[in-house]
Amino acid sequence: MTETTPTSGFATRAIHAGQAFEPVTGAVVPPLHFSSTYAQDGIGGLRNGYEYGRGTNPTRDSLQEQLAALEGGAKALSFGSGLAAEDALLRALMRPGQKVVLGNDAYGGTYRLISKVLGPWGIENQPVDMSDLDAVRAAVSSGDVPLLWVETPSNPLMQIADIAALAEIAHEAGALLVVDNTFASPYLQQPISLGADIVVHSTTKYIGGHSDVVGGAVIARDAEVAEKIQFLQFAAGGVSGPMDAFLTTRSLKTLAVRMEAHSDNAEKIADFLTGQAAVSAVLYPGLPEHPGHEIAAKQMRRFGGMVSVRFAGGEQAARRFTESLRVFTLAESLGGIESLVNYPSEMTHASVKGTELEVPVDLVRLSVGIEDAADLLADVEQALEQL
Ligand SMILES: *Cc1c(COP(=O)(O)O)cnc(C)c1O
Repeated sequence: MTETTPTSGFATRAIHAGQAFEPVTGAVVPPLHFSSTYAQDGIGGLRNGYEYGRGTNPTRDSLQEQLAALEGGAKALSFGSGLAAEDALLRALMRPGQKVVLGNDAYGGTYRLISKVLGPWGIENQPVDMSDLDAVRAAVSSGDVPLLWVETPSNPLMQIADIAALAEIAHEAGALLVVDNTFASPYLQQPISLGADIVVHSTTKYIGGHSDVVGGAVIARDAEVAEKIQFLQFAAGGVSGPMDAFLTTRSLKTLAVRMEAHSDNAEKIADFLTGQAAVSAVLYPGLPEHPGHEIAAKQMRRFGGMVSVRFAGGEQAARRFTESLRVFTLAESLGGIESLVNYPSEMTHASVKGTELEVPVDLVRLSVGIEDAADLLADVEQALEQL
């Protein structure tokens, strides 16, 4: 067995953590366990604690160990989707009458869950600008706030929040800091090492990485917090299935090389778009002129594969550019090896139209894949020529 320790390099942990070979045959890849139930040696005689698939499954456990090792948490929990993970975390750690303070640029689905589903059950929310630390401090100390929730880089505005500073503010107020690390992935950013208490992921995105599996995860710094969420996972049942867990584990093993390739290509696209007459702003934290560049450079290894663009010609130009791309596929979601283009205000973020979280109509979001950079650049160039 290849042993990994918390000081092993990222790729070593990604490939080996939770991936011990199968003891009977020596199969290097742990087998995929579909069984929903486990034989007992006499009543209550469980083998290694395995009882029923909603509670535990070896394939899910293997993914959870891998995720915990990569984010540096005590425990990871794998769910059927990113939103199932968020729902379990919110319901496990909040009670009616309490308030979650979240970024005013949070993912639309997160805001919809908090406001439209949990709101009627008595959970309050307050969106704030996460770059305004005084406003965050004031919000977490008004009312009963157990959670401060931040997404960085944010979807789709690519705003950067200072994780270490927010952790300090949360802890001063007795709150836990939750970081949605979906856009960066654990390869580019490790929130727990910066002071965060809980990391959430839509593993559908970079961790899954091939646009063929929907999933989510929660990783907690402390075992005690993880236990509360694990109880809800078991009691309410939002677990990931064995095949999904297997695919996610397989994908995580190549996360490091994929994120390097995504970052290489996105940097080239962001550079190319900068200074084009039709473009009014390129939102990419790797650009020195990005307002969050300095903080991003401090807390991220590189800047990732997501680039948002705003067009001088407004909504019409944004729509035309989106529909003119040929190598980028027009689709929701992100983080796969294939390049995708999304028009957030009508697609991923349609649910926050008319709220404080509304996305500008001149904005297009690119999920830059790992195809040959020359082909992606030529595609962007020909789409700009259509404007
Ligand atoms: C997609 C996404 C989610 C939701 O995850 P699902 O897997 O679609 O349920 C949450 N946060 C961010 C930042 C996302 O991009």
